[in-house]
Amino acid sequence: MRKIFNFSAGPAVLPEKVLEQAREEMLDWHGSGMSVMEMSHRGKEFMSIADQTESALRELADIPANYKILFLQGGASSQFAMVPMNLLGRNGKADYIHTGQWSGKAVSEAANYGSVHIAASSENDGFNSVPPLDQWRISPDTAYVHYTPNETIGGVEFQWTPDLSAAAGDNKTIPLVADMSSNFLSRPFDVSKFGLIYAGAQKNVGPAGLVIVIIREDLLNIVPLSGTPTMYRYKTHADNASMYNTPPTYAIYIMGLVMEWLKSQGGLAAIEQRNIAKARLIYDLIDTSNLYHCPVNRTDRSRMNVPFTLSDAGLDDAFLKQARVRGLIQLKGHRSVGGMRASIYNAMPLEGVQTLVDFMREFEKYHA
Ligand SMILES: *Cc1c(COP(=O)(O)O)cnc(C)c1O
Repeated sequence: MRKIFNFSAGPAVLPEKVLEQAREEMLDWHGSGMSVMEMSHRGKEFMSIADQTESALRELADIPANYKILFLQGGASSQFAMVPMNLLGRNGKADYIHTGQWSGKAVSEAANYGSVHIAASSENDGFNSVPPLDQWRISPDTAYVHYTPNETIGGVEFQWTPDLSAAAGDNKTIPLVADMSSNFLSRPFDVSKFGLIYAGAQKNVGPAGLVIVIIREDLLNIVPLSGTPTMYRYKTHADNASMYNTPPTYAIYIMGLVMEWLKSQGGLAAIEQRNIAKARLIYDLIDTSNLYHCPVNRTDRSRMNVPFTLSDAGLDDAFLKQARVRGLIQLKGHRSVGGMRASIYNAMPLEGVQTLVDFMREFEKYHA
């Protein structure tokens, strides 16, 4: 048993069972005499690991047959470029929803490749909410609409999936693109509503170094912008089952173990219920406290990343120090916003959140 609870925003906590199994299989995977790290990515052992990881993901998220799953590298940040390079097509226009720092980065990167239109933004609200769908100004000729379902830094999460057929009037074929890095597999989601989903693994599904892309097959027919490197073309990876070059093999293996763990937990509907319960514990405390404050609009609060401030920032250091003594670590807020942030991804047990909430209550008593 580990003695700490790790609230890092990413790389983040992994299920203890997964780490234990990886330890057991470290030197000799299933009698192969090799560590997974030492295997050829084209050998039958690793091919079976990759196949299993993919089919477990397909089963968990109920991914339809006309979507390809790609295991790529370069992090979610590379997708900020890869999406426009591959999907802008000939007219070169894309709509983006701006809800905070990560969508902001996606916007600036896309602007290097085409003409970006901010179809909706919560900037006027200090990025503390999500813009309601009826305020989205979708361009009828946009190549796609990009949004960020969970803003990891601001702690703002969409509790709904945008339906572009309503927003875009007669143009019903606009692909929805989502950066799901920080809430991927934290709740059920309907893949058929998306054209493309991407997620860096290190928040909710595995180690850093792996990014998962789920892409509807017809989008692979769009001709990438000229000059798009071979490695930056989705089709390269789709045509080669993510084995065009060496994929991040060990990260794929760990992700496979996380998929099995998720299944053992009852799948996405069950994990969602646990995530709701964990988030409620901490937000309820914040909302009934005089010391803690969360700036995010109540209906748009993230279940994964809970940012909060102390009414007296002079107490921040004492808070972090005393939390650490209780084994509660990595609670410091993002350098751009200060305060605290508790990231409570799938693998954070309820006990960890309960321990944090108990500590916060006690700390408030001494500093009221
Ligand atoms: C962490 C994060 C990223 C960046 O991921 P990298 O793998 O570091 O490139 C992008 N988008 C969101 C929403 C994130 O949480």
